[in-house]
Amino acid sequence: MSRLRSPEVVAPRAMAGTIAVFYLVGGLAGLLITAGADTDRTTGRVLAALSVAAFVGAAVVHRWARGWPRWAFHVVVTSAAVLIDVAVLLTPHSSSAVVTASLMTFVVVVGYLFFSVVVGTAYLVGGLAGVTLALLAQGDVTLPTAMALQTVIVALGTVTRSLVLRASDASRDPLTELANRRGFDQAMQDLLAGLGEDDRLSAALLDLDGFKAVNDTLGHEAGDHVLREVAAAWSAALPPDAVLARHGGDEFALLLPGLGGSDALALVRSVCARYPDLRLSVGVAQYVSGESAAQLMRRADQALYSAKAAGRGRCELEGGGDVPELVSELAAAVRAGDVQVYFQPVQQLATDSVLGVEALARWTRPGVGPVSPEEFIALAERHHLIGALGEHVMRSATGQLAELYARTGRRLRLGVNVSGLELCDPGYPERMRAVLAETGWPASETVLEVTESLLDAESAEAVRALHSLRAQGIVVAIDDFGTGYSSLSRLDTLPADILKVDSSFIAAITTSPRRAQLLRSIVGLATGLGLDVVAEGVETAEQAALLETVGCTFGQGWLYGPPAPLAEVVAGLGWTTPTNAPRP
Ligand code: C2E
Ligand code: MG
Ligand code: MG
Repeated sequence: MSRLRSPEVVAPRAMAGTIAVFYLVGGLAGLLITAGADTDRTTGRVLAALSVAAFVGAAVVHRWARGWPRWAFHVVVTSAAVLIDVAVLLTPHSSSAVVTASLMTFVVVVGYLFFSVVVGTAYLVGGLAGVTLALLAQGDVTLPTAMALQTVIVALGTVTRSLVLRASDASRDPLTELANRRGFDQAMQDLLAGLGEDDRLSAALLDLDGFKAVNDTLGHEAGDHVLREVAAAWSAALPPDAVLARHGGDEFALLLPGLGGSDALALVRSVCARYPDLRLSVGVAQYVSGESAAQLMRRADQALYSAKAAGRGRCELEGGGDVPELVSELAAAVRAGDVQVYFQPVQQLATDSVLGVEALARWTRPGVGPVSPEEFIALAERHHLIGALGEHVMRSATGQLAELYARTGRRLRLGVNVSGLELCDPGYPERMRAVLAETGWPASETVLEVTESLLDAESAEAVRALHSLRAQGIVVAIDDFGTGYSSLSRLDTLPADILKVDSSFIAAITTSPRRAQLLRSIVGLATGLGLDVVAEGVETAEQAALLETVGCTFGQGWLYGPPAPLAEVVAGLGWTTPTNAPRP
């Protein structure tokens, strides 16, 4: 189990980069020394071969070592030490031998940089012993010279060790000696950066049940003792590559590289069972390719919430309750295009006319009945189906509206919901461009609705996708504003054109003067930022009237029409089809 006192959670990627550079520099130094030394042919050839071996080592480590286990790095570093010793033995002159021996500094620095203090010190002692013996055996170097070199290597090793310890202090929780939140985030970023397509990773959040009572009744020292106990017990029980951190208060966070959700759940359950006195609730989530660190932790948090809600002292897997048949039925429906698209009108309040529609996915389980969109959208997100589902909705909706335009010459602006996960997929903007090109629907009449609380401010990928979509002419709306952790500052940072205020917010405006005042302020703020405001969930004429007085321009809700098949929505608009309808 990794503690951050020693930097054992350093990702293989960082180690591989540094070690490859050291091998490369060693090879170059070897070649220069060989070229400058006056040796017999055989010795010269062997020294050149050693340099070439160092170059090959650099290339191999650079290309492949990212996926290697930690023990393989010990092989690489030890081989470097042996290579240096042999080169020192063969180098004919004292000056060249000392320069060659000084390369042992690399071994010592790597030892302290990437391994524990104990392992680093082992490399220091072993490296010094080897290189001193080689220097003395070489025959041309005096003991004082060898000792002078030793002193330099020891000094550099010591400085490296203290710098590393100081840096890791900032990432360490002094009470438990585990990583703190910062160390955890760093370890997570490193792990995600090195994660291949098929690699598994799970995260867990552990929360101590009844910790407040311990603190309140037995005092803070007893509380600290419990926290240290949890840290020690779990550290001892977890596999070596796991990262355990104190995430704050009485909450611990855990990363389990290589484990899928159910294996991670089995592991945390077995550790909990081993220490029944340490009562914990645990939420586990498996990493879904494309999601950000924050999204993964949010899902682990949801699982933790379910574990607590189910009575504490439990371990739950996020989405673990998903029925496999339900998942495969949804997958089949998405593949077969059996997910239907309904449309709900978006009304311009002042003119009472329909400006556009929002596409809403509908799925009816054969023989069972309709499934709520919230349920199957979340299911699709957890099971890698959201990309295909979103693309199907986009293709179907734009296709239907393009066909309507061809028939009637009328265009309805189309809103389509997009999941934060889809936006994190780098290919998303290009896929949308291709769908629009295929159905002939203009980008400027397409609004992508992004739920602000689900979108990660930290997810550069998602924000980049929004910029790229807007550059194509697509309009961006922030959906469900006023729920979750909506933040006003995000209005400024997210590239958007429209703000959709959530129905839960609108529901209270006629009964709560404070809500109405808040809405007035939000509308003022959004308008000031150049955003159009759409009120969602408008159900009564009273709400509609109030919305107009606070300056809201657009509304959507049962008052204007429920989500329905396009033909029904259009029938309600009372259009008369012009005879000169353009062909697309
Ligand atoms: P949303 O984007 O906020 O969609 C508006 C929701 O409000 C819809 O729920 C709609 O049926 C409901 N609604 C409409 N009028 C009223 C009203 O007057 N009062 C109230 N209380 N509610 C009203 P629905 O269809 O159940 O969809 C729920 C959510 O599922 C949507 O919220 C959206 O976030 C998501 N969703 C639906 N279709 C898709 C899709 O194709 N892709 C993605 N990623 N998400 C979708
Ligand atoms: Mg929406
Ligand atoms: Mg909404």
